[in-house]
Amino acid sequence: KYDVVALGELLIDFTPAGTSPAGNPYFERNAGGAPVNVLAALSRLGRQTAFVGKVGDDPFGQYLREALVAENIADSGLVQTRTAHTTMAFVHLDGDGERSFHFCRHPGADAELTFDEVNRELLSSTRIFHFGSISMTTEPAYSATVQAVRLAKSHGALITYDPNWRPALWMDDAHSRAAMEEGLHLADIVKVSEEELVFLTGSQDLADGAAQLLNSYPIAQLLVTRGAEGTYYANRTVSGNVSSYPVTPVDTTAAGDGFMGAFIYRLLESGKPVTEWERNELEGAVAFANAAGAIATTRKGAIASLAKLDEIAALQHRGGGYADSI
Ligand code: ATP
Repeated sequence: KYDVVALGELLIDFTPAGTSPAGNPYFERNAGGAPVNVLAALSRLGRQTAFVGKVGDDPFGQYLREALVAENIADSGLVQTRTAHTTMAFVHLDGDGERSFHFCRHPGADAELTFDEVNRELLSSTRIFHFGSISMTTEPAYSATVQAVRLAKSHGALITYDPNWRPALWMDDAHSRAAMEEGLHLADIVKVSEEELVFLTGSQDLADGAAQLLNSYPIAQLLVTRGAEGTYYANRTVSGNVSSYPVTPVDTTAAGDGFMGAFIYRLLESGKPVTEWERNELEGAVAFANAAGAIATTRKGAIASLAKLDEIAALQHRGGGYADSI
């Protein structure tokens, strides 16, 4: 019934929005969480999606439920609790637009999801199941995530994974590495950033790091997003780089999620498994996803910045997204 179900964090991002007349910072309330951004990207491209996660039984939790519904994401897997607040993150932008996060999550409702609360029906009726590692920082959400992935997989869903490493959320690097590795054992399609690849493999060399991951885990397709440099792709037969599209970025929030959503869209559109794709089909899908990522950088916000099909086509028409070398 669903094309894509995603499990993970759903929270309020308070993003900087100027200063008051008294000189104090204003923050704007936004729906946040990478898995939901990925679903919103897919929903915008016309796909049926549903979310699994937990928020507080409070006004922010209610706002987030409404935000899902507004994006056409089914909310039947969203649980609300009275024992924890909706998770919040305050975003700080430094001089060159880089983001840092201050999380209010001790605990936060998102990390309190238990496997018992996971809507099993959604896991048995989806073509693709997507997750990240932010729901794996602590129990009970860690076990809920791992068990949900296993159940979806046992029902035949393709598993997609973006670790979305946020060091501030982890006790230490050893814990985050172990959890991220667990995710790599479970996933078919994996997207990491260059920084995550270096963290996971210790290798500064892109091709070498990618080969290490492919040798260590049963990953069918690896994608390494590289910002303005585009995306490196690697599987057991081919590898290469697809350049990005020239744009003027204003806010890179959700570029990676827009990319991931668009790549998943191409998986759904294709009549065959990714392992049977020719190199040109793979490069075409990466280029399409690069265009979606590029569009997300040109607009402020997360969900609000995600691309529509005609916008992706228009950007691709202008040129870019070429196979090149690293
Ligand atoms: P996040 O930090 O949001 O999780 P990420 O690090 O995975 O994201 P990026 O590499 O920043 O993601 O961006 C994803 C994709 O979006 C890139 O592979 C690229 O195709 C496109 N993109 C990002 N930044 C730019 C840019 N400055 N110009 C053109 N395209 C970009």
